[in-house]
Amino acid sequence: MKRVIFKDLDIFDGSRFFKGSVTVSGDMIEKMMEGEYKDDAGAEDEVITGNYILMPGMINLHTHVPMSLFKGVSEDLPLEKWLHERIFPLESKFISSEMVYICGLWGMVELLRSGVTTFCDMYFFEEHLAKGASEINIKAFIGEGVINFPSPAGRTPEQTIEYTEHLAKKYFKDPFINVAAAPHSPYLTEEKYLLALKEISDKYFIPFHIHMAESALEVKNYKEQAGVYEFERFEQLGLLSEKFIGAHCVNLNYEELAIMAKNKVTVAHCPSSNMKLGNGIARVSEMIEMGINVAVATDGSASNNNLNVIQEAELAAKLQKVAKKDPTVFRSLDALKAVTSNAGKPLGRGFGVIEEGVKADLVLIKTDTPEMYPVYDPAASILYSSSFSDIESVFVNGKKVVHQGKIETIDINYVKKEIVKIARLVERSI
Ligand SMILES: [Zn+2]
Repeated sequence: MKRVIFKDLDIFDGSRFFKGSVTVSGDMIEKMMEGEYKDDAGAEDEVITGNYILMPGMINLHTHVPMSLFKGVSEDLPLEKWLHERIFPLESKFISSEMVYICGLWGMVELLRSGVTTFCDMYFFEEHLAKGASEINIKAFIGEGVINFPSPAGRTPEQTIEYTEHLAKKYFKDPFINVAAAPHSPYLTEEKYLLALKEISDKYFIPFHIHMAESALEVKNYKEQAGVYEFERFEQLGLLSEKFIGAHCVNLNYEELAIMAKNKVTVAHCPSSNMKLGNGIARVSEMIEMGINVAVATDGSASNNNLNVIQEAELAAKLQKVAKKDPTVFRSLDALKAVTSNAGKPLGRGFGVIEEGVKADLVLIKTDTPEMYPVYDPAASILYSSSFSDIESVFVNGKKVVHQGKIETIDINYVKKEIVKIARLVERSI
């Protein structure tokens, strides 16, 4: 079988940098070796060598990809007004299976071009997002959002929970699509629904993906009603585990941080969204010190307004240095792990890492561009110097999906034509 040999490059395997080589056979990473490449290449093999860094495909651990339609539609508002007065009314008007498919694909083009090969989503009509993900060749953890009232997809919470189980069965062993249980939040999803979804998460070993402690008002209201804070209650209910992804986690006390560490949950830290909605700064450097697994994610385009995780990781690192008035916290390597190996932990083996025997999800970055060169500290170069135009290629399951910014798998002009039609309707309605 024809192999791709990434020969004598700077390699980041998800934990550290070294000089070495990686060989890919079919959809798998066959070998990874340090030092000079000594094996022979076959006549058929493709050899890639020169001024490059090879790193794992990145992971956007918390997003709502079809909301690429809504970037910039609701600015300068606090979370509660943003959600209830702008986003929910727009969603009730525009969400459809077609919108999710087209705007989802549009978002996936943006994700792939910025080096993301896996994303964890929460939205509605998620099977239509899955259809797009399979066509474009990106890995999606789809999550049909569970809220206390009928969803924009027309399902009651009970029906959405049943549907989540149906999806978990349907996509078991799919090469691109995985499923997550996706209750919206402690304030929009009743405890009986949370418990039913936890059961599905345990039965099918899928992530439990939810917004947590996003705004101070949310946390205050929750405490008044429940008598305890969100993570305290979630621990009492037995909802926390290594499969738990808590998006945001901004407004937390020390006891809750200790509970998170004890239960090995993952935080999907979304600094742009938290900054834009005025929700505050998550205590990320303390989380890292306490051993909490921290990932960085973009949230949806309506509150970010882009899906580029490297840019987000850069912001996350700088924000911690400002918040703590300490440049030694949240180092470049921490930030890169937050969009690769850390983000992969709640998803299962082989996500966000380069290892022998795992699927070949890879990003090849040029190092001789004016933005990148010279490269003394490759982690800092990727984090602070690179732009998505420095990405030479992106591979998913061993297949080249992006080359020099161009998507190789679908006709992006068709997607563009279709999203323009929907965006014009949004424009007329706001
Ligand atoms: Zn979100």
